[in-house]
Amino acid sequence: MGGYRMILYNINMATILVVLVLGHLLTGALIMAYIGPQDRSRAVNMFLLAKFLQPMAWLILGLRGAVPSMALVAVGNSALFTGAALELIALMMLKNNYTEKVRRAYNALLIGCIVVFIGVTAYGFQENVRITFASSITAILMVYPVYKLFRDKKASRLQKGIAVLYSITILFLLFRAVAALTTDMDMNLASTSIFNTWLFLLLYIVMLVGSTGFILLDKEKQDEELLKAASFDGLTNILNRKTFIERSNAVISLYLREQEQIAFLLIDIDDFKKINDKYGHFVGDAVLQDFADTLRKQLRDYDLFGRYGGEEFAILLPGTDEKQVKEVAERLRGTIANSSVDTGLKINYTISVGYCSITPDQETTIDMLYKLCDQALYMAKAHGKNCCRKAAEV
Ligand code: GH3
Ligand code: MG
Ligand code: MG
Repeated sequence: MGGYRMILYNINMATILVVLVLGHLLTGALIMAYIGPQDRSRAVNMFLLAKFLQPMAWLILGLRGAVPSMALVAVGNSALFTGAALELIALMMLKNNYTEKVRRAYNALLIGCIVVFIGVTAYGFQENVRITFASSITAILMVYPVYKLFRDKKASRLQKGIAVLYSITILFLLFRAVAALTTDMDMNLASTSIFNTWLFLLLYIVMLVGSTGFILLDKEKQDEELLKAASFDGLTNILNRKTFIERSNAVISLYLREQEQIAFLLIDIDDFKKINDKYGHFVGDAVLQDFADTLRKQLRDYDLFGRYGGEEFAILLPGTDEKQVKEVAERLRGTIANSSVDTGLKINYTISVGYCSITPDQETTIDMLYKLCDQALYMAKAHGKNCCRKAAEV
């Protein structure tokens, strides 16, 4: 126990400071090497700025012993808040939480804090007041981004881990703020008190995990975007043909085991070529988007909805029998027939539907269901369009 305390007491603050400064600069350099200039998002650029500003701030504060100046304290601390704020802003940008309202709030908070801090310093307030102020502000800046990291329903373990670390930092900073005012603990950054040792170690860990975590979260986001681009149709934002077929076949296997019914619908927009010819391709695209948006709202979370190509779409409804699929097909047809797309001009359009419902057996594939419903769809077109037809035999 004695030895343990000795080592901690002997940690040299200057060394931790140097390691912290180098850590910021080196992780910044690594990120720059990893993500080329063209590929850097706004979030990454903001993070790099923070990686540059924070070591500058620590160097300025580190000079304090050599150059006794309140101006250094004011500039160093302001750079430190700003660096911390930029890092948090980068994190919010990455997680799409940096809305216009948040941006304005952070600008106001940061400018307000810098002005007040310079005032507090110039006015010759005691060091403990400055410590309380600086620590509380940094903690406050962290609260919203950390709350958003936790609240995110799709948060990965990585994201939650980062949020936990930031939460510990918030608690530590708040403790420092309160202790500076209410105890006579020596919290001057130059002091080698046990509290400072822990504080600096924590700052080092936050730097390390914050940087690694940020880059991993950025990678996580890029992977998600790639996966989305590979699975969804770019125009309508619903499943592309390949993914629709893959997921449908998985559902078919599951329902084969359970021996429950599934339904398939093949939908084609009527006279779509005329819409394109009359109003242009852009309006045609808007109709396709409207169609996908309107139908998606009519479906359940676990229904599959995909674009098969052009103006042809497919829907797979797990756990749906013949009577129900007939109702769904009619409801979808009616919804489209009774709605219009507003592209400046109001455009009405209709759809035709071929549908079927089956209890899957070993032979059932999505291709088979497609062929059956394609014949039914052909019948619907032949019957004058804007109608639904059941597949002949399943
Ligand atoms: P029917 O009622 O028999 O289905 O006639 P249709 O005109 O809808 O069918 P047809 O297959 O003759 O025409 C489909 C048109 O869809 C032709 C093609 O140019 C257009 N199309 C395919 N993909 C897109 C797209 O992504 N955007 C737009 N605007 N048009 C597309
Ligand atoms: Mg068509
Ligand atoms: Mg077609």
